[in-house]
Amino acid sequence: MPDGDCVGSQLALAHALRALGKEVTLALDDKIPESLFFLDGVRAIAPHTPRAQDVFVFVDGSDPSRYGKAFDAAAIGARPIILIDHHITNEPFGTYNLVDPGAASAAEIVYAVVRALDVPISPALAQALLTGIVTDTLGFRTAATTPETLESATALVRHGGSIPEIIDQVYNRRSFQTLHVLGYALAHAALVGKIIYSALDFQTLEKFGANGNGTNGIVNQLLTVADADIAFFLVEKKDGRIDLSMRARVGTDVSGAARRLGGGGHKQASGATLSPPFETAVQRVLDAIQQESLP
Ligand code: 5GP
Ligand code: MN
Repeated sequence: MPDGDCVGSQLALAHALRALGKEVTLALDDKIPESLFFLDGVRAIAPHTPRAQDVFVFVDGSDPSRYGKAFDAAAIGARPIILIDHHITNEPFGTYNLVDPGAASAAEIVYAVVRALDVPISPALAQALLTGIVTDTLGFRTAATTPETLESATALVRHGGSIPEIIDQVYNRRSFQTLHVLGYALAHAALVGKIIYSALDFQTLEKFGANGNGTNGIVNQLLTVADADIAFFLVEKKDGRIDLSMRARVGTDVSGAARRLGGGGHKQASGATLSPPFETAVQRVLDAIQQESLP
């Protein structure tokens, strides 16, 4: 489930390494959201399993399972792994682990790497990193946004990155079907104590002619309800598994509840992939939240 930070960080690192004359292969074992197709070089990212490369770099995923087939232990063998990540639930599975849960995005860490490599920062590289920063901070609106985040963003704009282009491409270009999906999710939301949630079964998704892309922002809309401290949203996938997205206000931490459900993430934004059946999924999430003694 690659997002703007995952794709942007990966592309930026590739731009930087190529500038040093390195040969780079970009792998992702899942579909890239169309909203990210504006990024330079994005179409070269493919879902191939890794070959025996010299070095493997994994970016913006907390554990090997997040990378799907792109993490192939047999292909990697004893070769070095470099991990660059910012999830609080990170398992440092690399040979070298560059993990900073204080970073708002993996892109901020990659930016520090790029500066240390002393490569020229092209507008394409700058826009890739800026996309990671802007999307993981929801446009500089999350508590994870620090002065360093803003300083990195300022520098990247000076190098040719464009915040209006990112906002326009990522947030202001949804499909008409997605608008109906959002309407359904909001109309069927439930508020239980300080928890607001909604769920979307696969049949309904198909009825709207939507493909499951574009459900990303819905959970954030749910948490705009003042009485709620936690929001979660469930989307049933074609194979019956269920995507869980969770969000929490500052002062509440949903990463533990997500971990209980086999997932992980950040204090304010976490997720998991649940097994069927869809019918019991809401209760399973409510139970996990309660077991973490959250509101
Ligand atoms: P989102 O709700 O935007 O899909 O994900 C929010 C956060 O939760 C992201 O940082 C993402 O890495 C994490 N996350 C989402 N789904 C999963 C999952 O299935 N497993 C794990 N470990 N983390 C997840
Ligand atoms: Mn990230």
